[in-house]
Amino acid sequence: MTAILSNLQAIRQAITQAAQAAQRDPASVTLLAVSKTFPADAVREAYAAGQRAFGENYVQEALDKISTLHDLQLEWHFIGPIQSNKTRVIAENFAWIHGVDRLKIAQRFSEQRPADLPPLNICLQVNVSGETSKSGVAPHEVEALALQISLLPNLKLRGLMAIPAPADDVVAQRRPFAQMRELLQQLNAHGLQLDTLSMGMSHDFAAAITEGATMVRVGTAIFGLRSKPQA
Ligand SMILES: *Cc1c(COP(=O)(O)O)cnc(C)c1O
Repeated sequence: MTAILSNLQAIRQAITQAAQAAQRDPASVTLLAVSKTFPADAVREAYAAGQRAFGENYVQEALDKISTLHDLQLEWHFIGPIQSNKTRVIAENFAWIHGVDRLKIAQRFSEQRPADLPPLNICLQVNVSGETSKSGVAPHEVEALALQISLLPNLKLRGLMAIPAPADDVVAQRRPFAQMRELLQQLNAHGLQLDTLSMGMSHDFAAAITEGATMVRVGTAIFGLRSKPQA
C-alpha cells in the first residue's frame, strides 16, 4: 500500500469517527486534499485511492497540474490568497474559491466566470478571533458582504471559510470553529442559504468536524511535509 493511500484511509476513518461522535452523518463532511507543492503524480495517486476534490494555493503551480491531469475528473478548489490580476485564470479553471473577503474580488469573479461553466462556488474567508493572518473579513462585516455577493450572477455563495491560529488542545481548537458555526446559522436565519463550513486542517480537522465543518482541507496528513514555504 502506498503512503498516500494509507494516509487517505486513516483520515477517512478519523473523519467518520469525529462525525459519529458529534451525531453527524460522515457523508456530510467532504475531504479536500490540499496538494500544493506536491507533483501531479501525487494527485494521480490520491485519485486512484478515490479522492476527487483537490485544493491549491499557487495559481501557476495549480494551472500546470490542472493541465497535466485533464484526463481525470477532478474538482479543483482555489484556497490561496487571491491577487486581483489572477482572478480571470482562477475563474476559468476552478470550481470553488475559498478565500474571498472583498466585494471587488467577487465582482471580478462574477464578470470573468465563463458562461459555459456552472456557477463558481464561493466561500467567504472570516477572520475569527485569534487569527494571525490579516486576510478575512471581520465577523461583524460578514453579513453585509454575504448579502451583496449572493446577488452576483455566475457565482454561488456556499458558505464560510476560516484558518484559525493553530492551537494544541481540543478546547482551544473548538472555540473559533464554534464561532464560525454560529455565524453561519445567523446568516441562514437572516435569509441566506449557505451549506458550507470550510474549516479544519491536518492538526485540527476533528475539532472542526465536532463544530460542524462540512469541508476539511487536509494537506500534510495526506501528502507528507511540504518542503517549500506555505502560503
Ligand atoms: C496549506 C493549507 C491547508 C492544508 O494544511 P495542512 O496543515 O497541510 O493540512 C489548508 N487550508 C489552507 C488555506 C492552506 O493554505
